[in-house]
Amino acid sequence: MTVNLLGYDARRLQDFCAGLGEKPFRAKQLMRWIHHAGVDEFSAMTDMSKGLRDALAREAVIVAPQVLRDDSAADGTRKWLLDVGTGNAIEAVFIPEASRGTLCISSQAGCALECSFCSTGRQGFNRNLTVEEIIGQLWLAARALRACAAQGGEVRTVQSAAGSPGREGAEVRPISNVVMMGMGEPLANFDNVVAAIRFMLDDHAYGLSRRRVTLSTAGLVPGIDRLREECPVSLAVSLHAPNDALRDDLVPINRKYPIAELLAACRRYVEVAPRGYVMFEYVMLAGVNDSVAQARALAALVKDVPCKVNLIPFNPYAGIRYQRSSAGAIDCFRDVLMQAGLIATVRKTRGDDIDAACGQLAGRVRDRTRRVTRRQQEELAQ
Ligand code: SAH
Repeated sequence: MTVNLLGYDARRLQDFCAGLGEKPFRAKQLMRWIHHAGVDEFSAMTDMSKGLRDALAREAVIVAPQVLRDDSAADGTRKWLLDVGTGNAIEAVFIPEASRGTLCISSQAGCALECSFCSTGRQGFNRNLTVEEIIGQLWLAARALRACAAQGGEVRTVQSAAGSPGREGAEVRPISNVVMMGMGEPLANFDNVVAAIRFMLDDHAYGLSRRRVTLSTAGLVPGIDRLREECPVSLAVSLHAPNDALRDDLVPINRKYPIAELLAACRRYVEVAPRGYVMFEYVMLAGVNDSVAQARALAALVKDVPCKVNLIPFNPYAGIRYQRSSAGAIDCFRDVLMQAGLIATVRKTRGDDIDAACGQLAGRVRDRTRRVTRRQQEELAQ
């Protein structure tokens, strides 16, 4: 049986190479070919002997999820729909900006948390993604963007530290940041997510700094503490409400880990956070959580946590009862936070012409929780 080396870390690659009678240094060589160069054919690994390349081709493969769709938006945002088997599909989105290129990736097929405004949650949950499915999103996107740049496409590139701008042969790295803000709750798939993050941080793979890898969570307190101990990257927390009563409704996991416990975990995390703060995300829902009084309550709530607040204009989709707050309400909310001394920004909506904006990543989920049927019955009963 062949093995998929895409999700093999240095140690597993070493064991694998040892099994072929090869020296440990082959592991790093393989890692660089797979993740730096984005190669999926062993025959292309030109610094290895023909015998070894043949042996690798017999024993192993390098395979990422298959691309079902590849869409580009007018603003340069690009979205891939990826097949993860048994009727499930996930999405990854690349967002180019002047000074950085951000890839937003998924961690689960569906989501079990049922946040009331989120389209992924409404579809139900199927399963956790594997390490190769998570890192495969970065592998695929990096390859696609490199191919596009090689053809003279308009991909903005960030020069790697090693290459000075304009220097021939300088490495082209369109993806400078990764955010785990796609489908799923990353801390509910902790082991696979952290294993994938280690590839992102590894110099032999993607070489990103901890500051440039962000994990976003709906607030799984034990997961936040584990991440703090095992792999502290930048942390975003989906707060969305200034009190427990409203948060219980919007983000039901709040009933298990209420705001006071969540903020205490955030304060602990800040001690190791690469940027020294936590990012609070706050989706702006018209008439639900966007009043001046709620902005004041939010400012008072987080005053002891080193943080920034990112306001996300709600992105509506078919059949959802919420609406986006008006631009005026969002500006006013931000001004109240700033007057209270917080740093607050409004997230720009990108790629909405291809449904690539926050919360529009629907993918395809074969619900194993029967949530969809349950909700349909509830709606019929009303
Ligand atoms: N489960 C994780 C990460 C996935 S969602 C989390 O909850 O943080 C990434 C962000 O998009 C979260 O802040 C989420 O609340 C927000 N979001 C979800 N649906 C949205 C929508 N329709 N419009 C705007 N933001 C949305």
